Amino acid sequence: MKRLVILGGGESGVGTALLGKKKGFEVFVSDKGNIKKKYKDVLINNEIEWEEERHTESKLLNADMVMKSPGIPDEAPLIKQIRKQKIKVVSEIEFASMFTNATIVGITGSNGKTTTATLTHHILKQELNVGLAGNIGDSFAKQILDDDFENYVLEISSFQLDDIIEFKPKIAVLLNITLDHLDRYENKFENYVKSKFRIAMNQTKADYLIYDADDVVIQNHLINHPVQSTLLPFSLVKTIENGAYLDKENIKITIDNNQIIMPTSNLTLEGKHNIKNAMAASTVAHLLKIRKQTIRESLENFQGVEHRLEQVLKINKVQYINDSKATNVNATYYALESMEAPTVWIVGGIDKGNNYEELYPFINEKVKAIICLGVDNEKLIDTFGNMVDIIIETQFMSEAVKIAYKVAEAGDNVLLSPACASFDLFENYEDRGRQFKNAVRNL
Ligand code: ADP
Repeated sequence: MKRLVILGGGESGVGTALLGKKKGFEVFVSDKGNIKKKYKDVLINNEIEWEEERHTESKLLNADMVMKSPGIPDEAPLIKQIRKQKIKVVSEIEFASMFTNATIVGITGSNGKTTTATLTHHILKQELNVGLAGNIGDSFAKQILDDDFENYVLEISSFQLDDIIEFKPKIAVLLNITLDHLDRYENKFENYVKSKFRIAMNQTKADYLIYDADDVVIQNHLINHPVQSTLLPFSLVKTIENGAYLDKENIKITIDNNQIIMPTSNLTLEGKHNIKNAMAASTVAHLLKIRKQTIRESLENFQGVEHRLEQVLKINKVQYINDSKATNVNATYYALESMEAPTVWIVGGIDKGNNYEELYPFINEKVKAIICLGVDNEKLIDTFGNMVDIIIETQFMSEAVKIAYKVAEAGDNVLLSPACASFDLFENYEDRGRQFKNAVRNL
C-alpha cells in the first residue's frame, strides 16, 4: 500500500485524506497547529490516522507521496527535508485531478478569482453538470469523492499552482498579476509571476488560455516565455480578433468566427474590473458551447459574491457598500474607480507594503472623507491627510460606520474597501464585512 502523508489538516488536507483513503492509500495527516474540531471529527469517523501540534518525522519521511496544504511555505525545514529525500510533493489540485477525467476550468489571478469562478459556474450550470471548487467552499478532492461532476470550475491560488506536476486545465483563466504575497516568493515579483503562469505549463494547442491583454505584466511574460496553449485574450481598450473586447458599450467575444455580443448596460456587476471578469467568464462559456441567450441572461441575473462591492443598504439616500475582500491596493483601485458619487471611504488594517499612489486621482476626484480603521493608521494619515478635509481614526467598526453616517449626505456612498488585511482588528475579512453590515443595519 502506498503511504500518503498530508501536511495540514484544513479543508484541502482533510478532503485529500478522504479521497486518498478511498483510492487505497495508507493515509496520515499531520498538522503543526491545531486541527479544527469539525475536521478532526471527519478524520476520526473515517478512521484516518492524524496528529496535531507536531510533525513526527518518523511518520512523515516514510511517505511515498506528500500533499502539502497551500498555507505551508516551501522554506519550512520539514519541506526541505522531504524534498531532499526525493519524496513526491503535490498540491491538493494535483492529487485530486489524478482521479477525474472531467473538463477543468482553472481560474487564477491576483484579484477577481472568486468573483469570476462563481460567475463562470453560474453560467455553466444552466446547461452543464458542473462543480465549483478550489479555494471556494468544499475542496476539489472532496467534490471528486462526493459528486464527481463532468466539469469543474476551480479557483486556484498561486500556492496551489506551486506544487502541480501534471495538472492541466482544458481552459485556464489568468485574470491579472499585481503585487501580492511577495513574502512567499523571496520578495521576487518574477517568482510570483512564474507561479501564476504554471496554470498553463502543461497545456497544449488543444487547450485554452484566457487572459487580460491589458495587463502589462502578463503581456511581457508571454512575449518572453511563450506558452503552447491557444490564446484567447480579453481587453477593454484593444480590438481582439480571437477573444473578447469592448466595442463602445458592447462586449464582443469571437471564437472561430462565431461571435456573441452583449451590452454592458445589462450587467448586474458594476465597475470596469467586473466587465473584465464577465468577459473572462463568458469566453469560457462560449468555448463550452453554452447558448448565447443563456450567457446573456446569466450575466443579467448574477447576484455577485458577498464582501465584493456588495450593496448593503440605502439609508437617507446614502448607499453603503461592503468591499471587505479588498485586501490590497489594486482591488481598492477598482472599487474607487467604480464609485459614481462622492464617497466616504473606510480604509485600513494591516498594510502589506502598500503603495497608494495609484489611488490619488480618485481621492481628489471622489473621496470627501476618510475613516481609518486599523490599529496603526499612521501611514494612511501621512499619505492622505492633506488630500481630504476630513480624516478620522477609529478602532471600532460600529464607530466607523456612525462617523460615516454623520459625514455622508444624500446621494453619497459609504465604501468599506480597506486595501489591507483584516487581522489586526478582525478574525478575517468575512468577519470585518459582517461587522460592517451589522453596524449599517443598526444605524
Ligand atoms: P480573489 O478571489 O482573487 O481574492 P475576489 O473575487 O474575491 O478575488 O475579489 C477580491 C477583491 O478584488 C474585491 O474587492 C473585488 O471587488 C476586487 N476585484 C474583483 N475582480 C477584480 C479584477 N478583475 N481586478 C481587480 N480587482 C478585482
